[in-house]
Amino acid sequence: MKNIVILILILSIFSFSCTNSSTKKTADLKMNTFVDGLLKKMTLDEKIGQLTLFTSDWSVTGGTMRKDYINLIEKGSVGAIFNAYTVDYVKKLQKIAVEKTRLGIPLIFGYDVIHGHRTIFPIPLAQASSWDLQAIEKSDRIAASEATAEGINWTFAPMVDIARDPRWGRVMEGAGEDTWLGSMIAVARVKGFQGDDLSAQNTLLACVKHFAAYGAPQAGRDYYTVDMSERSLYEWYLPPYKAAVKVGAASVMTSFNEIAGIPSSSNRWLLTDLLRKEWGFNGFVVSDYTSINELIPHGVAADSAQAGMLAINAGLDMDMQGSIYLNQLKDLLKSGKVSQETIDNSVRNVLVAKYKLGLFEDPYRYCSLEREAKEIMTPDNLAFAREFASKSAVLLKNSNKTLPIKRNIKTLAVIGPLGDSKPDMLGSWSAAGQSDKCVTLLEGLKNKLGNKTRIIYAKGCETDSCNTDGFAEALKIARQADFVILALGESASMSGEAASRSDLGLPGVQMDLARIIIKSGVTSAVVLFNGRPLAIEELDKIAPALLEVWFGGTEAGNGISDLLFGDVIPSGKLTITFPRNVGQIPIFYNVKNTGRPFDPSFPKDKYKSRYLDCPNTPLYPFGYGLSYTTFRYSNLSMQKTSLNKGEDIEASAEVTNTGEYDGDEIVQLYVHQKVGDVTRPIKELKGFKKVSIKKGESIKVSFILKMDELSYYHQNMSYNYDGGDYDLYIGPNSSEGLSISFRIL
Ligand code: BGC
Repeated sequence: MKNIVILILILSIFSFSCTNSSTKKTADLKMNTFVDGLLKKMTLDEKIGQLTLFTSDWSVTGGTMRKDYINLIEKGSVGAIFNAYTVDYVKKLQKIAVEKTRLGIPLIFGYDVIHGHRTIFPIPLAQASSWDLQAIEKSDRIAASEATAEGINWTFAPMVDIARDPRWGRVMEGAGEDTWLGSMIAVARVKGFQGDDLSAQNTLLACVKHFAAYGAPQAGRDYYTVDMSERSLYEWYLPPYKAAVKVGAASVMTSFNEIAGIPSSSNRWLLTDLLRKEWGFNGFVVSDYTSINELIPHGVAADSAQAGMLAINAGLDMDMQGSIYLNQLKDLLKSGKVSQETIDNSVRNVLVAKYKLGLFEDPYRYCSLEREAKEIMTPDNLAFAREFASKSAVLLKNSNKTLPIKRNIKTLAVIGPLGDSKPDMLGSWSAAGQSDKCVTLLEGLKNKLGNKTRIIYAKGCETDSCNTDGFAEALKIARQADFVILALGESASMSGEAASRSDLGLPGVQMDLARIIIKSGVTSAVVLFNGRPLAIEELDKIAPALLEVWFGGTEAGNGISDLLFGDVIPSGKLTITFPRNVGQIPIFYNVKNTGRPFDPSFPKDKYKSRYLDCPNTPLYPFGYGLSYTTFRYSNLSMQKTSLNKGEDIEASAEVTNTGEYDGDEIVQLYVHQKVGDVTRPIKELKGFKKVSIKKGESIKVSFILKMDELSYYHQNMSYNYDGGDYDLYIGPNSSEGLSISFRIL
């Protein structure tokens, strides 16, 4: 009987998956027939139009702005528009495309929905600090719902560029320095945006960017040259893009930079051989803002015609804002430099995306006034934004249990340029977020404390100026208070695109302000707002407590207040290393040992890999973050320390909450291969678990690691793992933890 039941079960699963795959086949056939039929009807001009993307005049990030995009839509010279939203506006533009052009092909509407659309969530680097994949996916789900309710159906996100240099302003837009974690976050984000049905009203096309290695510009200067070994590219930079493509990301954006002498927008190996042939990408590729035009200053194209030829032949389907395809493709076809087949393939890729969005069925499916009125900035969305703002913060220091602040204090002072600054709460790339709807720190504290506590505020100084006139007032305020919160950091515009910095200290005179207030003797804590790691060694020395809150979004002030008063216990951990000073950069946890590793027990040993004037160690390592409670790690053990190839690696440790609060801990697992075919990093993150532990309780945290996870690129670039000796670590961050050795036979 049991066997029969199992057989029926197997047969029904089999027939279900057969039906599923045959339904998909039929649907694909229908789509391809439609798209091919449409292609046959299209003139060359109409085809070129589909490969052209222009911005509206709403928000832009570059120079070549077109005022005549409306005429161009009418002429059928545009296939997609970005920076246009709200149902009214989108509908107006869509109507022109659908009703005034010969074939009525609908437009795609793109926008940089990076960390929320109207409800703004913490910046992506902050989100990553939560190590909460579900929360990350959920925030992008909400962002997609809000954006589609305002007519958008394509986001230029996620940015999955690995970045090890905090001078680069766009570290705020990514997941940090780690490839393994970055790949998981890339997947969560694509799923959040796209859901499992692109034609649903509340999902949109994701765009994985910036392909490739945009996060590794020399000297941390935006748009600058990228050059690295093939092994580093494959091992550290490519996996997050690949992971995003594997879960079905519908589009990919090329990067501004070159890699090893070849700009991405003209790199056929990258866009065709790797992306399409090796990874099986079947969406469409868009340039970054005028990045095809930039092939000229890069020095690989003499003029626009050559730039267009290189880009389309490399596999770049859609030209963002550059007008190069619009103005050059016709002649390039005539002269035989570009083939009809190449153009048709690119057009097909774009039409397929439109089909998948359901635009041919209903071009106005993202234009519902009802949804626009109901689904934006809902109480649920805002509540989640508040929760996420506190989940994303990282407690960097808390000497003598300075935090949380006691509820019964009489006078609380907020001092600093970020204490009551609405525009700075959203952070860079804040889509259609409205700063007037943001909660500042001061407002959040007032919301929390009502009028039971006197709250006083002084700005002290601007974020980035040398004027100290406000110091006296700030000191006066501080002296009246039982507790001072110093709100310091960068303004939102100091990170993001075109916002590289060569000095990562607190800008302007903020450090002077901090010194005066902290040394005045009033109990104080620093709340840090910034889009990148800062070099704050002195602040770390003198401040009793430091809470890194990044830019928390619409609900920042409420989320931070929850943490400051202990209603939420900090649990975030850094996904990017904080240097002691700029001279240490690039500094990241998964470094190589070198042939002359520095041994801190012999500090005077000169001929070692080290600095004369600074330790090798960072100020705060990758994975680091404190809580109001404390955790003890013990009893690290492995199921087997001698394993055959192919077996799972199983390890566990006991984690005890030894402090005074229930709390969440992000338990991390790292591996080190002792001897490799090529040199291996001293540690690599291969697992983590975020666990809730009640005070006084111990729990066993177990990991199962597939042996494949140990694979790397060998001398001959084969990707696999070796037998041999390994160390495994389980701990609270990349610098601390218990270790055990194991061997693969
Ligand atoms: C940025 C992209 C962005 C595009 C459109 C460019 O300057 O590099 O990340 O998606 O502008 O706004």
